[in-house]
Amino acid sequence: MNIFKFGGASVNSAEGVKNFVKIVQSFKDETIVVLSAMGKTTNALEQITKDFYEKSDEVEAKFLELELYHLHITNELFPNKEDVVYKKVNQLFDQLSNYLQKEPTLDYDFDYDQIVSFGELLSTCIVSEYLRLCGLPNIWVDIRTCLKTDNTYREGKIDWELSQKLVPQVFGFNNTFVYVTQGFLGGTITNQTTTLGREGSDYTAAILSYILDVDKLSIWKDVPGIMNADPKWLDDAEKLDRISYQEAIELAFYGAKVIHPKTIQPIKRKKIPLQVRSFINYNEPGTLISTASKQMEQQLPVFIRKQDQVLISIRPVDFSFILEENLSVFFALFAKHRMKVNLTQNSAISFSVCADRSERRLKDLQDEISEHFEVKYNDKVELITIRHHTKEAVDRMTKGREIILEQRSRDTAQFVIV
Ligand code: ASP
Ligand code: MG
Repeated sequence: MNIFKFGGASVNSAEGVKNFVKIVQSFKDETIVVLSAMGKTTNALEQITKDFYEKSDEVEAKFLELELYHLHITNELFPNKEDVVYKKVNQLFDQLSNYLQKEPTLDYDFDYDQIVSFGELLSTCIVSEYLRLCGLPNIWVDIRTCLKTDNTYREGKIDWELSQKLVPQVFGFNNTFVYVTQGFLGGTITNQTTTLGREGSDYTAAILSYILDVDKLSIWKDVPGIMNADPKWLDDAEKLDRISYQEAIELAFYGAKVIHPKTIQPIKRKKIPLQVRSFINYNEPGTLISTASKQMEQQLPVFIRKQDQVLISIRPVDFSFILEENLSVFFALFAKHRMKVNLTQNSAISFSVCADRSERRLKDLQDEISEHFEVKYNDKVELITIRHHTKEAVDRMTKGREIILEQRSRDTAQFVIV
């Protein structure tokens, strides 16, 4: 049994969906397809959520644009306008439209999940029906019925015990060869929709691989495999042929966009090989992540860039305060305001944090501590990480730029730069 995860870029057009079908058809094993939303749909739905919450009149236009995009792809794929797919797609848009006509709840993250989840529901519906049209019978699974999470909206934590019971019941492979299901989504025990965090579809595929003990997980991407830098950023990026789980975890942790940070843990525990490969050149092997490959790893420098960061410096107003004794308080605060911390540094009287930028969360944090602490920040900075750094690699990244914070260990160098 294999699991194939396809990202949004692979099914962003009718051509993309046709290419996807060709790949699935070329395999003869039992397969579960885990799919993301089409193209930039999740971004569009995020914007719709924001507008909905702020009661902006942009909502309707953006909703129509999204509907048009999906109908356009559907029209190209299904010449028979009586095909059942039209009814299903329209039903989903009706449900979304109904939600958008209601008042926002008081919980932004809850509304976010209820709205943004339509991206994956739509993509899997269209793709599953198209596979059927191409002569590949398959079952569409609503993953929310078996992949259970708590109610941390936008970052649902997996209920492993319950999911381990339900998932094998749903993916039984009795007279079925192919299942199509949504990445990124989960459901609470009371059947509310949750999401697992942006780019969470890889994680979904890894969880299902773990629970179902699959032979291999393949993640199909628009790049040849795991590269030593994002090729859209550095055009001389090279592919890594094999890496260990450990190295993959490190790369993901520092923000390499190829794999969702939580993805590797489950497959590592069961030693399931993960192949990251191109849906364009689909006969190429891509990158293999597995146990045995530690010695075979290339030691190429790997460059990782995180943009849209904020460097926050916190100082007690009263200088008698010893910061080191209170670090745990800060970490608790960041966790409470759900700020994603990427790097920290402290001295006796100040604490610096490089975190993902979020005006809303930063403001909440500031409001909470402003009485006792002075909070300063450098907005819109970048965090550059170099694994296996060399002098040449460091020069390449930092030349001509202002470094405002720097950290180095034997394997890893990090720079916050303007
Ligand atoms: N569609 C979601 C996103 O864009 C999940 C994913 O693609 O992995 O974040
Ligand atoms: Mg995506």
